Amino acid sequence: MKWEGNRQSDNVEDARAGGGGGRGGIRLGGGRGIGLGTVAIALVAGWIFGINPLTVLGLLSGGGAPMEVSQGPATKPPADDKMAQFVSTVLADTEDVWRAQFKQMGATYREPKLRLFRGAEPTACGTGQAAMGPFYCPGDEKVYIDLSFYETMRTRMGAPGDFAQAYVIAHEVGHHVQHLMGITAKVDGMRGRVSEAQQNGLSVRLELQADCFAGVWAHHAQSARQILEQGDVEEAMNAAAQIGDDNLQRKSQGQVIPESFTHGTSAQRVRWFKTGLQTGSVAQCNTFEARQL
Ligand SMILES: [Zn+2]
Repeated sequence: MKWEGNRQSDNVEDARAGGGGGRGGIRLGGGRGIGLGTVAIALVAGWIFGINPLTVLGLLSGGGAPMEVSQGPATKPPADDKMAQFVSTVLADTEDVWRAQFKQMGATYREPKLRLFRGAEPTACGTGQAAMGPFYCPGDEKVYIDLSFYETMRTRMGAPGDFAQAYVIAHEVGHHVQHLMGITAKVDGMRGRVSEAQQNGLSVRLELQADCFAGVWAHHAQSARQILEQGDVEEAMNAAAQIGDDNLQRKSQGQVIPESFTHGTSAQRVRWFKTGLQTGSVAQCNTFEARQL
């Protein structure tokens, strides 16, 4: 991926200096999923690219201004930190693309923050743990990432490459776009009124749409700035495939239970990313009305 020298975002908050989880933070939801102590890879992978479980529980509603949470001090990332510069550049690129897309739809894009943390971090969605993988919290409109996740992707998940890393951010930003569009709130509103299998089905559609939105970003970034290099698309496709629910279940349990999927199969994730990438169209990402995922 060609990114060096491109604009970097001012919306990156570097909170890594204060990391480690010493500060209390707020805890909601009685320990469901969040704050798990064990770092079994299957479990880790299960949360990866997930929206926050508390969001799934419907404790948060979309719309309105982002919530103020009491968080430790954050600075701009140091200029010699290549990984942080990469993340800032990808975030800036998503800002440019989505600002234009929203304008086209007659709306205004509100940029999310991206907070770099280490270990644990208080968020409007409860305490974020590095073991959950990167996540987006609609409550405070921030993407959270512990950069050690990229190492996990490369060494333990078979998903190396800088464009695979960019895809992770673009997917989380995709959740932010869903939040701004009111999709997250709508899906949350249906929870509790439908069966668990139906809830999982909604979650899959939400995740696949975020994959599609990541593809929409890549499409426009490519046509405006020619960021892609040989093999980049394959890197992102591979990452999407490695984290499909079927693949993760097969690796962790040796069997596949489709009703329990919350993110979609490998083939579905690849397909929706590709749909966004090829069409560059938000309208083509309507996973909620798609007959075939
Ligand atoms: Zn996700």
